Amino acid sequence: MRNTPVCVLGLGLIGGSVMRAAAAAGREVFGYNRSVEAVTAATADGFDATENLDEVLSAAAASNALIVLAVPVPALSQMLARIRDVAPQCPLTDVTSVKSCVVEEVRAVGLLERFVGGHPMAGTAHSGWVAGDAQLFVGAPWVVSVDDHVDPAVWTLVADLALDCGAVVVPARSDEHDAAAATISHLPHLLAEALATTAGEVPLAFALAAGSFRDGTRVAATAPDLVRAMCEANADQVLPVLDRALDLLKLAREALAEGNPLTELVDSGHAARVRYDSFSRPAIVATVIGADNWRDELAAAGRAGGVIRSALPVLDSPG
Ligand code: NAD
Repeated sequence: MRNTPVCVLGLGLIGGSVMRAAAAAGREVFGYNRSVEAVTAATADGFDATENLDEVLSAAAASNALIVLAVPVPALSQMLARIRDVAPQCPLTDVTSVKSCVVEEVRAVGLLERFVGGHPMAGTAHSGWVAGDAQLFVGAPWVVSVDDHVDPAVWTLVADLALDCGAVVVPARSDEHDAAAATISHLPHLLAEALATTAGEVPLAFALAAGSFRDGTRVAATAPDLVRAMCEANADQVLPVLDRALDLLKLAREALAEGNPLTELVDSGHAARVRYDSFSRPAIVATVIGADNWRDELAAAGRAGGVIRSALPVLDSPG
């Protein structure tokens, strides 16, 4: 239901952007941040924010709000314990950059039944309330998980929030999300850090640096704690893709050392990038949420590049 209130825990870049975007879509939204500075800034901007977690969770319980966890992985367990104690019936989602470890934490506190994981694939290298932007998610993919435990009603609430924020919904299983995120997010972070470190050791490099260096190291400007949190929490999935990238670089090194052409790496990289540029994103329109096999159907459609651009029909729902 699109009039379900939204309770955001953590009003940083992503949580602050969810709060602004949900409010701009006409949703009732309120939130919590641990620091008084962010709460003061959010309140000054006209939002309903507090640094009292139990107070915000009591309000969420009273209005059966959709709770959005928007804190880094290391902060999840303490938040989940408070949610279990104060607002255990509320539908629950998150925006964390890794999914399987969050599912395990949610399972451990007994809240899995009401949980559907999420990950908006949008961001900047900046942090905190001031970095938030109501437009951050416009046109961006927002993964909404279709794991076996997922409840159709909660799934619809989470997908509706993503759509209200202007995103397109990509349905995916948590394990498949983590394997893909390791490749397109966590590996780029590690490569960017390696590139920035390497250039930092070469005299004159920064003086000559232009587009290639700027684009290749953009994400190295991200707060180190966040980078560590997402890569370390997804180590199992990062290791094989890191090995693959290191193998490719090792082969390129051997080719250079032996005076051979770099054809293999450069041609395959170029071909993959061209394929990405023409990757199509067909709209998913036919799946009925809650019908037989709906989760598998959505996972397959998401795997094939499909996205949800507007609300899907829900089984036994009027209209
Ligand atoms: P941020 O630093 O801007 O905000 C983090 C928020 O978490 C802040 O409100 C902070 O006060 C709060 N927080 C941190 N530790 C806490 C603790 N121990 N107890 C209570 N609150 C705590 O970071 P962000 O970029 O908004 O990241 C938040 C989540 O969004 C992370 O899980 C991250 O993986 C995910 N995410 C980030 C991006 C990105 O590009 N930055 C993109 C998608 C998802």
